[in-house]
Amino acid sequence: MKMILIGPPGVGKGTQAKLLVKKYHIPQISTGDMLRSNIRNDTDLGQLAKTFMNAGKLVPDNVILDMIRTRFSEADCREGYILDGFPRTIPQAEGLDLLLNKIGQKLDVVLVMTANPEEIIRRLSSRRSCRECGAVYNLLFSPPHSADICDHCGGELYQRDDDKPATIKNRLNVYERQTAPLIEFYQKMNLIRKVNGMGTISEVGEGIRKALE
Ligand code: AMP
Repeated sequence: MKMILIGPPGVGKGTQAKLLVKKYHIPQISTGDMLRSNIRNDTDLGQLAKTFMNAGKLVPDNVILDMIRTRFSEADCREGYILDGFPRTIPQAEGLDLLLNKIGQKLDVVLVMTANPEEIIRRLSSRRSCRECGAVYNLLFSPPHSADICDHCGGELYQRDDDKPATIKNRLNVYERQTAPLIEFYQKMNLIRKVNGMGTISEVGEGIRKALE
């Protein structure tokens, strides 16, 4: 299964991707997670990405495409993958197309998840992430056992700079301007299936299961 998840920040792409990983035994490829891991390890790429991310802006397409090319060359991507947060612009989608042609692969489906902006702001404001291992919690839906401490590794939980209210608005604007046009791009290839992202984690999961039937 080779799948793209498209949707505004906070719609639940990462959460649902993790459930799909268990079901299909294929990796989740989240460019946001890859960039945050580079920031944690203070790599050159991390330092470059940080300024864009903290402002709620997109990291340049060539940087993202280089990162994806390297990731796709790893053995675990052969049978399939869930692309979460990539592509995010038309040039990234075109770059992905070229790469897939070159390695003889085809996408199976592009899932579009939707939710209204009020719900997205509510969810993102309640999101907490672990500084050490990157695990993600939501104070509303999946709270940690003890506030501020990661259940998995004991690391400190923090609110991402880009999950603060001013940056969230920016990210939603960026989504509408730069990412939403991908829906038409993939509609032309007949790959789009739409899923309502407004319910609970299991309700949305059920919607995805039906959309993939
Ligand atoms: P995410 O975790 O997917 O919400 O991504 C967090 C931030 O990382 C975004 O707001 C962007 O600054 C950056 N980012 C992640 N994926 C991409 C991408 N495909 N293209 C450009 N920037 C990205």
